[in-house]
Amino acid sequence: MMKELNQLPIPLLLWYRENARVLPWRSDPTPYRVWISEIMLQQTRVAAVLDYYRRFLEAVPTVADLAALPEDALMKLWQGLGYYSRARNLQKAARQIMENFGGVFPNTYDGIRSLAGVGDYTAGAVASIAFGLPVPAVDGNVLRVVTRVTGDAGDITAPAVKRRITEALRQIIPTEAPGQFNQAMMELGATVCLPNGAPLCGRCPAAEFCRARLEDRIGQLPVKAPKKARRIERRSVYLIVSEQGVALRRRPDKGLLAGLWEYPNELAEEGAIPALLGLEQEELVPAGQGRHIFTHIEWRMQAWTARIPAEALPESWVWADRQALARDYAVPNAFQAFRDFVDRQLGYF
Ligand code: SF4
Repeated sequence: MMKELNQLPIPLLLWYRENARVLPWRSDPTPYRVWISEIMLQQTRVAAVLDYYRRFLEAVPTVADLAALPEDALMKLWQGLGYYSRARNLQKAARQIMENFGGVFPNTYDGIRSLAGVGDYTAGAVASIAFGLPVPAVDGNVLRVVTRVTGDAGDITAPAVKRRITEALRQIIPTEAPGQFNQAMMELGATVCLPNGAPLCGRCPAAEFCRARLEDRIGQLPVKAPKKARRIERRSVYLIVSEQGVALRRRPDKGLLAGLWEYPNELAEEGAIPALLGLEQEELVPAGQGRHIFTHIEWRMQAWTARIPAEALPESWVWADRQALARDYAVPNAFQAFRDFVDRQLGYF
């Protein structure tokens, strides 16, 4: 493994110098900026992150601002990016920095790793890019590049394999440019050594010594154990309207989409008749279907709508008109399928 890896840093860094994409967090890599970008980029493509990143940095330019931000404002900034626990952890971490580190971003790997929502990869990325510490940052892109370059057929979902690869990278990471090296690895994985068997080897700085290419094994690497099937959940979603808007309720503080606002909904048996607020079945009108895929669950939703008097709203729910929906309430993308319907209903007022 080491033979190929030892050859990697110099051609990789030269390639990166010529080919690095210009990205806003790269121009001024302060710890705060690198951290926010890395958290946003988890499970999310660069193109989808750019606007969110700019808006977030404008609205919340410092750790102290983030620590003090009201929760609804935070969720509103995050609305549409998904995986909302990331936003919650960002704020938790900002408060940790204020309380445990005197408001100064921690400058050691262990300090960074101790922050909420920060795993090995993110700690490595921030430590190397913002502080120049020689620690690897190993994400899916990096695992793909390393297993292909070295011909390693270990299962990359196994923690032991990830540890082995991390250790191997620790041996070769150039101490004078660890941040550049880590970013170059990720960039190579994201733009050249593409997944699903179609890498652009002709443009790759590792092509000459890459085992997968030389041995014609690209399609077989990396090796990944198959994922567990997602659980399918059928849900009834209620788009209840009155002259004051559409009914929203807040989700519980823990679990999936914790603390976000949603259209009331519940688990439904297939073909079962929904019942809500004592409404008769004929008062609930079908209002479309939607589907949303989370990491471990898939929601298959049937929406129902009804018009009720404003005062009939249960106590902990709220009415949101068009303006409030746009400004104050973060309704997750899972309910995207019903947005047009709700918008049309609210347009009638
Ligand atoms: S030569 Fe091809 S398979 Fe090997 S690292 Fe480069 S892009 Fe990936």
